[in-house]
Amino acid sequence: MAQTYGAKRLLVNGIVQGVGFRPFVYQLAVRHGLKGEVANTSAGVIIHIEGPPEQMRAFESDLTEKSPPLAHIVEIESQPDIIRSYSGFEIARSRGAAAMTTLISPDVAVCGDCLAEMFDPADRRFGYPFINCTNCGPRYTIIDDIPYDRPKTSMRHFAMCARCQAEYNDPANRRFHAQPNACPACGPHIGLWDGRRNRVDAPDPVARAAELIREGLILAVKGLGGYHLAADATQPEAVDRLRQRKRREEKPFAVMSFDLATIRSYAVTGPEEEKLLASIERPIVLLAKRQPFVLAEAVAPRNRYVGAMLPYTPLHYLILRHGFPALVMTSGNLSEEPIAIDNDDAFERLAGVADFFLVHNRDIYLRSDDSVVRRAAGATRFMRRSRGYVPVPVFLKHKLPPVLACGAELKNTVCITRGNQAFLSQHIGDLENLATYEFFQKTVAHMRRILAVRPEIIACDMHPDYLSTRWAEEQAGMPRVRVQHHHAHIVSGLAEFGIEGPVIGLACDGTGYGPDGTVWGGEVLVADVRGFERVAHLACVSMPGSAAAIKEPWRMGLSYLHDAFDNRMWDLDLPVLRENGDAKARLIVEMIEKQVNSPRTSSMGRLFDGVAAIAGLRGRVNYEGQAAMELEMAAADDTDSAYDFAWQDGEPLRILPAPIIRGVVSDLRDGVPVPVISARFHNSLVRMLSDLCVLLRGRRGLNRVVLSGGVFQNARLLGGLIPALEGSGFEVYSHRRVPTNDGGIALGQALIAAAISL
Ligand code: ZN
Ligand code: ZN
Ligand code: FE
Repeated sequence: MAQTYGAKRLLVNGIVQGVGFRPFVYQLAVRHGLKGEVANTSAGVIIHIEGPPEQMRAFESDLTEKSPPLAHIVEIESQPDIIRSYSGFEIARSRGAAAMTTLISPDVAVCGDCLAEMFDPADRRFGYPFINCTNCGPRYTIIDDIPYDRPKTSMRHFAMCARCQAEYNDPANRRFHAQPNACPACGPHIGLWDGRRNRVDAPDPVARAAELIREGLILAVKGLGGYHLAADATQPEAVDRLRQRKRREEKPFAVMSFDLATIRSYAVTGPEEEKLLASIERPIVLLAKRQPFVLAEAVAPRNRYVGAMLPYTPLHYLILRHGFPALVMTSGNLSEEPIAIDNDDAFERLAGVADFFLVHNRDIYLRSDDSVVRRAAGATRFMRRSRGYVPVPVFLKHKLPPVLACGAELKNTVCITRGNQAFLSQHIGDLENLATYEFFQKTVAHMRRILAVRPEIIACDMHPDYLSTRWAEEQAGMPRVRVQHHHAHIVSGLAEFGIEGPVIGLACDGTGYGPDGTVWGGEVLVADVRGFERVAHLACVSMPGSAAAIKEPWRMGLSYLHDAFDNRMWDLDLPVLRENGDAKARLIVEMIEKQVNSPRTSSMGRLFDGVAAIAGLRGRVNYEGQAAMELEMAAADDTDSAYDFAWQDGEPLRILPAPIIRGVVSDLRDGVPVPVISARFHNSLVRMLSDLCVLLRGRRGLNRVVLSGGVFQNARLLGGLIPALEGSGFEVYSHRRVPTNDGGIALGQALIAAAISL
């Protein structure tokens, strides 16, 4: 006879605490007529169910398929249990050190249910900018300690009114245990202030703020992870003024629009891009501009793309519903500084930038910039992984001892491991000024606290002058592992895909410290988590003026011309030789010849810079990667031809840039258009790198290729190389969950340090 009543114990792991998971389980159990209980424990969420076996099976399948939007189930262990004869289903109190292994949810966009209430004149939260529920709202940025309960968040200053408390206590309510729950009677409020910090008396501060933006003024708007600077993206004067005041010359601004239909009026969106735009993470998505571009050109000058996002806080919706096609929403900072989060700090630092301030009194404890993604080569690629995604961990194949990895210098993030989880921090920025360095230290302390981890090993870059390296050296009492930059890049790829080496690692990058005293960046490694062998690299050229050669790609142009033509370079009739005057050009070449302040580099990023300069696209950059990006955007779509390439075999093999440079120059002299030259340059790299991998496979028997490094943000290169390698039968791994740029490097550092220390 079939069993008609049984019991089961389910252990659920993942992001299942503080996201409405227990009430969801409760409602599901009740719906399926099951008895038992659900509890948070240090091992995860434990569910005991009893009832007819077919009901339990239905419950189990709904558990994964219908789980709440913020829940992220990693694994469920299911086993038979003894029947305990519960009288109903209940939510038990948290047990033991439940908080210690809790995964905290990221901050996510306001949900549809909350939005509907906010726009409903009959609702008690009509027009209330802090509406939220268990399925939406702030998390990571308002916590300063665990367990994730209201007293440990910046909502501790607001006592819930009776109605909010009743919602919070009711397992059937959408706001059951929603820690930031609030309403106009008991929660935070907004206020409008002028630049001299006088309160603006307006019955509806948001409506007044919208009027001011429409008048062409710049508003500082307090958001979820920090302040934005907002301006009307259709008014060229307003956007120009914002650029001048923020001291940001050409780096594109992101824009925000009310809905997808509005974004479609100025950008081209595919189905995948629309899914990303509308996802609860609400990243900035890079989209091709629709021509003629109806927003101000200064939003993203000389750029084929525009970064757009949908509103993600209730306040954003309240502002944007005043009919703006798009608002510039750029980080509330001066160039290179961290984004302002604190009200006093914002008034002080943004005084000369913003005309008015739309402020609120819910504190932001941890800054988190907007995330930036792009669709390339058939997948979503992170340019910046931050708000909305952090602190979702990367789940590793093996458990590690607790490691703190300090990242690199530019686009810094840090990484802390706990068991088989690696937590990559939000975007910290370029560790070049004191404010960013302080933010770095604060983030490390914050993550240690909320993850309840005491790191036993510290990892950093090999570069002795990085502030992150210096900080690591000041930390006493822990073994320290210095990791080569490109090894870390490749291992971040191994970590992300849970594969073991050895693999062929193509690290195409800007700058990384090489142990041989040269600047690395065009590297082919045979690598696993414990070590690497440098099997090939771009042949070195000089970087005349060192850091100046990065800011002034024309110097790299001269360096590559000198490498390819020697003194015959002066006979070439190329604008790059003249654009800064003959005397200066000769001085640069003298620096190269005498090796004065001209470090040698194998960087792929510098090769892009040099070609962009020789092609006359850009001699000086206003932001990192600008020349390479403009070279990518210039590429014609319909050109299959390529330049000759060559390498010099040996250990390591040296890839010679000279034949490619000669090809570029010959085309320029023949009057070949720059888009064709750019396409041929990209095609040459694709063919060269895939041929090289075939050669290495023959020698090493390796069939897996990991692509990493900032140069792979280039969609043209990535989109060409992946099919070329796959066409040759390789298994290709390119980043999808962490950035390919230095924002992902801390993950690789952590794994390497753990492997070496074991
Ligand atoms: Zn909601
Ligand atoms: Zn209330
Ligand atoms: Fe790098």
